[in-house]
Amino acid sequence: MPDHMPQDAGENSLWAASSIANPVNEQLREAMQSDVLVIGGGYTGLSCALHLAEKGASVVLLEAKSIGFGGSGRNAGLVNAGVWQNPDHVCAQLGEEAGQRFNMALRDSPALVAELVERYHMDCDLQPSGTVNIAHSAGGMRHLENRCRQLQELGSAVELIDGETSRALSASPYYRHGGIRDPQAATINPLSYARALAKAAQGLGARLYQESGVESLTRKNDRWLATTAHGSVSAEQVVVATNAYADRHSHQVRTSTLPVFIFQCATAPLADDIAAGIIPGREGLWDTQLLLTSSRIDKDGRLVMSSAGRLRGFQRAIRENWMTRTRDLLYPQARGANWAFSWSGQIGVTSNKILRVQLLAPGVFAPAGYNGRGIGPGSVIGKRLAETIVSGNRDDFPFPIEARYHEKWRAFRAGYYSYGTLALQFLQRR
Ligand SMILES: Cc1cc2nc3c(=O)[nH]c(=O)nc-3n(C[C@H](O)[C@H](O)[C@H](O)COP(=O)(O)OP(=O)(O)OC[C@H]3O[C@@H](n4cnc5c(N)ncnc54)[C@H](O)[C@@H]3O)c2cc1C
Repeated sequence: MPDHMPQDAGENSLWAASSIANPVNEQLREAMQSDVLVIGGGYTGLSCALHLAEKGASVVLLEAKSIGFGGSGRNAGLVNAGVWQNPDHVCAQLGEEAGQRFNMALRDSPALVAELVERYHMDCDLQPSGTVNIAHSAGGMRHLENRCRQLQELGSAVELIDGETSRALSASPYYRHGGIRDPQAATINPLSYARALAKAAQGLGARLYQESGVESLTRKNDRWLATTAHGSVSAEQVVVATNAYADRHSHQVRTSTLPVFIFQCATAPLADDIAAGIIPGREGLWDTQLLLTSSRIDKDGRLVMSSAGRLRGFQRAIRENWMTRTRDLLYPQARGANWAFSWSGQIGVTSNKILRVQLLAPGVFAPAGYNGRGIGPGSVIGKRLAETIVSGNRDDFPFPIEARYHEKWRAFRAGYYSYGTLALQFLQRR
């Protein structure tokens, strides 16, 4: 099996082509015992395994495909704080006290990523130049003013920038309404970060296996027994960190979110003078358009852009052409550059737009539904779950732990969203 498989035929991922080597190369081929079993090798599972190993717990991590195969190896690499929704929305959904705990737990998530990168000397192109949520219209800016106020009330170091600054910072004629700058956020090579987490966890004694999908999880002799095609793991507690990439064996997690796709396009390295003239401070940007678009320049001077949709079959040309038109509008400096890479990935969306931690059975935790923001949250939740498992004290866990949960009409709602974005992309900017 190739080390990082595309989502759909014809895709090629920049991250697969530019990341550090995968440190995990073994398949589980024996019967093992551990304190904790982690299922899924993305940020959540890897951070959990790493922090469990830091605390001296014995841990086995099983990944069905390869490390970072899911969202963790495919994303846009914007290391942002909090969640997509405003802090007030979280409080309205969870109640004031639980919402406040939740918001505070994720407020400084970029700092945890930076701390791990430094502590374990991770080679993952962390660029601590901040990110900007940039307005595409006056209405978008009003929304951002409200968001900024809420973030500042939480104690975040975010600041409003005016139209002039947003134009200078993006070097785009399109962005002239202002935005929110978060100087503590960052950009990263997402697949390298996943692989570096795996390497750090291995270094502390965690046992990681790939091509080792869990096919069954049953209770045996007061422990959990997970079986794979060629082996098994018996553990006291289990973290099912399969999130939006949960396969059919992890049905309960799969049905707890709606599958929604995001695609990305990246140019070849641009000429130095052109690359220097786009987002010169190297912040990661994402905007307020209905078809939200993110932009960043990677370490080699490639322009990397993302928006909603999957690149399957006939959709590919429609979405890539839309992205070319969008790029020409946002960054006319890059007009004419071909897309050297394009790929897509799946996020797990929940009805209330807030991530969920399900308790599937006693001792079996399943965090999922990050709604497209998982670099910081996955790192934090993995860490906080590790602490909770080791201490046995759930009171300090800052996220509500819920009973089993299902999203209704998943296929219909996901299809509606997918074809809605496709229709818009077909029609827009011609
Ligand atoms: C295109 C795209 C752009 C994004 N951009 C950003 C961004 O800029 N910033 C940000 O913060 N977030 C972003 N996200 C979201 C972020 O990538 C995810 O929220 C995050 O990676 C989720 O991590 P995870 O570890 O929970 O799950 P995943 O990384 O999806 O890992 C789950 C793993 O479980 C494995 N698995 C499934 N079933 C089994 C089984 N039965 N046995 C063993 N293993 C199994 C899968 O193979 C997979 O590797 C983006 C996502 C996408 C797709």
